[in-house]
Amino acid sequence: MKTIWLVVLLALLAIVGLGIYRWSRTSAEREPAACEVCERPIHRATAFSINVDSREVWACCPRCGLSLARGDGDRPPQARATDYPTGRLVPADHCVFVEGADIAPCCSPDVIVGAEKVPTSKCFDRCYPSAIAFEKPQDAADYSRKHGGTIVSFETLFREVKKS
Ligand SMILES: [Zn+2]
Repeated sequence: MKTIWLVVLLALLAIVGLGIYRWSRTSAEREPAACEVCERPIHRATAFSINVDSREVWACCPRCGLSLARGDGDRPPQARATDYPTGRLVPADHCVFVEGADIAPCCSPDVIVGAEKVPTSKCFDRCYPSAIAFEKPQDAADYSRKHGGTIVSFETLFREVKKS
């Protein structure tokens, strides 16, 4: 009788252990909860990752992520952006970006930042104006018609952030 319980216990431990292992692996592959540049929460709609010294660094938005690439010469860095309509991560150089639309997920006045719930100020903001990625230019055009802003290529966005 005792051996049966022991076997059951071991089986349970194995299942729990496997669960924890798989959970930790998937969370390591996902983006972290906070931007590694400005420490704001990463919004799924604008998550952006950039290769810095062959490490993938996650940022809250393209503008914030690109600020890491300033010193890297004239070539846009390897990066992945979130296609706004689908939420999929796609190579950033396949995207166009709507810049300065009326929606700024990182810093709009109704977004609450941090545990202290302090709203962000707009006087200076690395993430402002917003840059929202679209894999299909048509989606970007539709979005911009409703929300304003201008459509720019990844390379243009990169050069702008570099200059600022
Ligand atoms: Zn950020």
